[in-house]
Amino acid sequence: MNTYDFLVIGSGISGLNFALDAAEYGTVAIVTKKELMESNSNYAQGGIAAVLDSHDSFNAHVADTLTAGCHINDLNAVTLMITHAPAQIQKLIDIGVGFSRKKETLSLTQEGGHSTRRIAHAHDATGKEIERALIFHVRQHKNIHIFESHLAIDLMVKNNACQGAQVLNTEKKIIETFLAKATILASGGAGQVFERNCNPSVATGDGIAMAARAGAEIRDMEFIQFHPTALALDGKPTFLLSETIRGEGAILVNAKGERFMESQHELKEMAPRDIVARAIYEEMKHGPVYLDITHRESAYIKARFPYIYEQLWWYGIKMDKDRIPVAPAAHYTCGGVHTNLHGETNIPGLFAFGEVAHTGVHGANRLASNSLLECMVFSEQTVPTAVAYATTHPIEEQTTTNNVVYVPSNIANIKKEIQHLMWNHVGIIRHEDELDETLHTIKDIQSNLETLQKNGRDEMLIETKNLADVAIIITKAAIARKESIGCHFIEN
Ligand SMILES: Cc1cc2nc3c(=O)[nH]c(=O)nc-3n(C[C@H](O)[C@H](O)[C@H](O)COP(=O)(O)OP(=O)(O)OC[C@H]3O[C@@H](n4cnc5c(N)ncnc54)[C@H](O)[C@@H]3O)c2cc1C
Repeated sequence: MNTYDFLVIGSGISGLNFALDAAEYGTVAIVTKKELMESNSNYAQGGIAAVLDSHDSFNAHVADTLTAGCHINDLNAVTLMITHAPAQIQKLIDIGVGFSRKKETLSLTQEGGHSTRRIAHAHDATGKEIERALIFHVRQHKNIHIFESHLAIDLMVKNNACQGAQVLNTEKKIIETFLAKATILASGGAGQVFERNCNPSVATGDGIAMAARAGAEIRDMEFIQFHPTALALDGKPTFLLSETIRGEGAILVNAKGERFMESQHELKEMAPRDIVARAIYEEMKHGPVYLDITHRESAYIKARFPYIYEQLWWYGIKMDKDRIPVAPAAHYTCGGVHTNLHGETNIPGLFAFGEVAHTGVHGANRLASNSLLECMVFSEQTVPTAVAYATTHPIEEQTTTNNVVYVPSNIANIKKEIQHLMWNHVGIIRHEDELDETLHTIKDIQSNLETLQKNGRDEMLIETKNLADVAIIITKAAIARKESIGCHFIEN
């Protein structure tokens, strides 16, 4: 049995940032499904939003966040996040994050929905650079114990308090118990619920599913953000094309070469993501849509977007010469496990932050580059609360034994079926009758998976069951929200 002060589930930016701070107060175990680096964080391209320019203001950043979120955001959460942002950028610089610079000052870029340039970035691979710096420090800390290839299966809740998790060691194929005074969900979002998504394979919504099974309150799951521009090339990955490409002048054109966003929104290609995604979706009924930045200098494009340029080159596209075929893809989970501003859930001993959590900061639609910021701010905010909890709540003696056995499954087809259903019927544009029908179908799938797992489970069955659980939560939330708002668009 492994016993720690803090059990952190997930090694994205939020989990690593918390671990580093909390390790000053006690022992920390980080369990993560694959390698430490593998996370949505690692693929974040565009950057992290903060008021860093004298022409900008907290009020403007707050206003942009509320506009994107259709004003159903939690204003206290938004204000807290935005006023803490500049200090978080400094903290990252202090631990060695190499943000792009223009001479002495940070280079700031722009993304959709922002009224000014306020995105700090490390070229076009910001998440990878932040993960690199955090991992460098995490690996050196004597109080932090890293468990790669460890997949959390379920939270252990006893006497109405969370005391750790059951975890599958996917290399040894054994189930282990991790006990902790405070358990922290930093397990990211659920993009994999949808067939067309730009998340890595780890983003199966496990944290949301585990928390829901344990009785945690889940909110706003109907708000799934679809990124407007992911690569749409047969047989190639749904590679994200950062909004900063549009921020640096790229336009969207239809099959006839016409620029269609001018007639859709005053901000044209820089309109909030839900609006651009729906416009592309509609335009695609008449033919392919392209992202075009060929009017900018080749040398500039290669220097500004080295990562994206290289990836596209591998896929046979020269970004400085060719238009890039694009289509929307599921990108970000705005809702999640509800917490207060200090990471506390309704289950004592269970804390959450980052994409798995819901603080209300995003409202009905996340403003671009606010999520890395959310990860940094709310993981830091959680440290004092989790430390105070761990100090006053010793681990109770456990009588629980593992009730899960490892049995290989072969159910890739079921995962695909869920993803296909969700993309086609609970996607960018939703219809009430289809939502009801999809809910019934996925409930049937869920009950089949429950029967299967009585014999034992492997990682595929655990993840697929989580996908089914989260798909049901999303669909129920979509049925409950009758009006179209932000990322949730109902057409009757
Ligand atoms: C392609 C892409 C580009 C993006 N670009 C930007 C951007 O420019 N700016 C921005 O602000 N945001 C961006 N985002 C969103 C942002 O990256 C994420 O919201 C943020 O990184 C989430 O961080 P996190 O720490 O909450 O979770 P993640 O970084 O997703 O980490 C979750 C971790 O939990 C682990 N995990 C999951 N389930 C389990 C389990 N059952 N057991 C053990 N471990 C588990 C995963 O393996 C992973 O290590 C982007 C996202 C993507 C996919």
